[in-house]
Amino acid sequence: MRKIVIAGNWKMFKTQAESLEFLKGFLPSLGETPQDREVVLCVPFTDLSVFSKSLHGSRIQLGAQNIHWEGSGAYTGEISGPMLTEIGVRYVIVGHSERRQYFGETDHTVNLRLKAAQKFGLTPILCVGETKQQRDALETESLIINQLEKDLVDIDQENLVIAYEPIWAIGTGDTCETKEANRVIGIIRNQLTNPNVPIQYGGSVKPNNIDEIMAQREIDGVLVGGASLEPASFARLVNYK
Ligand code: PEP
Repeated sequence: MRKIVIAGNWKMFKTQAESLEFLKGFLPSLGETPQDREVVLCVPFTDLSVFSKSLHGSRIQLGAQNIHWEGSGAYTGEISGPMLTEIGVRYVIVGHSERRQYFGETDHTVNLRLKAAQKFGLTPILCVGETKQQRDALETESLIINQLEKDLVDIDQENLVIAYEPIWAIGTGDTCETKEANRVIGIIRNQLTNPNVPIQYGGSVKPNNIDEIMAQREIDGVLVGGASLEPASFARLVNYK
């Protein structure tokens, strides 16, 4: 049985006060959420402690957006696995396209961060996906296979979530056609040794397309940016039909 994981990625949005405001609006809607799905919020580092104090008894799992490959050390600006697990963080996004694009993340550093996440007891959410240019050049499949080959070296597939996020669909309102997302996720699954790894779709997921996305056979959840920032829209996503 593959686990369903509905995860929000808040990126660099929301102060602590804004996080608390969000929780006030969002937590009541979890009462309707079926037990078959995991609800995860990957919030900025400064919001993690607020969440860890406010989430007792809630079924929201806490996620971070980055992790360094060492447990501690002289790495200014980075955060380590033990710092995250100490405050109850369970998931961490690794290799998001914004980190690959703006912060020099490579497949090698993605692999190191995935290993660190697993070593320190976190579940990594590995993001892979192609640019518009690569898609137009019919390179989607080869690009993704190449990313997976490099990123997953010596990674335990029993403790892993993968998010297929076509870069051209992130934050653009331009969702990947659901059947196409399903097809690419099938290709990703064929590359894995463990067929039960949950594979999410990410890229302009909204209340008006969530039901169709989640109806696809290969899609085990979503990784959501913009639509996870408002209590009502994230509630609609976690309560998809
Ligand atoms: C993301 O940040 O991973 C993402 C998919 O963003 P959005 O839902 O806003 O496209």
